[in-house]
Amino acid sequence: MNGSAIRKVTVIGAGVIGLAAAVSLRRDGHEVTIIDRLPPGEACSFGNSGAMPRSHAMPMSTPGILRKVPGYLLDPLGPLAFRWRHLPALAPWLVTFLRSSAPDRFAHILTTLTALMQQSHDDWSVLLKDAGMTDRVRDNGALSIYRSAEARETAWPLWRMLIERGARLERLDEDALRAIEPGLPAGYSCAVLEHDYRHATDSHRIPTGLAEHFLRMGGVIQRETVSEIEIGPSGPRALRTNHGEHPLDLLVLAAGAWSGPFARRLGHAVPLEAAREHCQSKSG
Ligand SMILES: Cc1cc2nc3c(=O)[nH]c(=O)nc-3n(C[C@H](O)[C@H](O)[C@H](O)COP(=O)(O)OP(=O)(O)OC[C@H]3O[C@@H](n4cnc5c(N)ncnc54)[C@H](O)[C@@H]3O)c2cc1C
Repeated sequence: MNGSAIRKVTVIGAGVIGLAAAVSLRRDGHEVTIIDRLPPGEACSFGNSGAMPRSHAMPMSTPGILRKVPGYLLDPLGPLAFRWRHLPALAPWLVTFLRSSAPDRFAHILTTLTALMQQSHDDWSVLLKDAGMTDRVRDNGALSIYRSAEARETAWPLWRMLIERGARLERLDEDALRAIEPGLPAGYSCAVLEHDYRHATDSHRIPTGLAEHFLRMGGVIQRETVSEIEIGPSGPRALRTNHGEHPLDLLVLAAGAWSGPFARRLGHAVPLEAAREHCQSKSG
């Protein structure tokens, strides 16, 4: 317990974030209860790509993105699509997103995110070992493939920014690329290989494994829907759920894409939007 007092901690959300926080708090000796309306790992943490990079912290809002957005939106296979009826609600987030592409701001965010990712990578190593889950990830690196050396050189300044922040990257020519990926379709002539890049073999098994570990550590998981955070004179006082009221000592908010209204209730206007409608609809 490192000499600090034991607290009763309530975590909203049994996704990968809430579970990792809960395990860590439990490891420090606190009494921890997770509240979620779904079984562990059934929302966004259910079916993601399972990529766990150490240094690939590239923000989505890259310099010059504003010029690319119209093309993305017109291309049915482009990386960006959104429903125009959502535009009024999305506007404040979109403005912040586009402002973040200014070169100075981008570099600052990249530096901050890279530091966070590197710390998180090291912390995951400990967590996976403690939870007996090292066999659920593969340390196999990641390839970004290109159709031409020119295309890779155009992208290279961004890769260089990652190298400057500690990423271990390698430029591969076609022979080296095909030696790693013999089944790659024709038309790809070079790549960037990122070392220090893990993948979950089954992303859903990460939160479920953490939940099992948390329960073995004496943690508690309750299946309830939180409707309100009651605020008292010195902060969050109680949670109201479909099963009643839970007094609060310490609260961790890890409700993923649904955290926005709760965060506002706690006085934090977090500019949070779900990347996909799926994230919002799966659990209501
Ligand atoms: C297609 C896709 C691919 C992705 N690929 C990657 C990847 O490769 N690598 C990566 O790092 N990330 C990836 N992500 C992102 C990653 O999945 C999410 O960042 C992560 O799962 C979020 O975890 P979370 O715990 O914050 O949220 P969630 O897993 O969504 O958990 C939030 C929990 O809060 C609960 N909750 C919400 N509101 C309430 C309430 N009122 N009462 C009770 N419970 C509530 C929900 O039921 C849910 O269980 C991807 C996401 C998607 C959609």
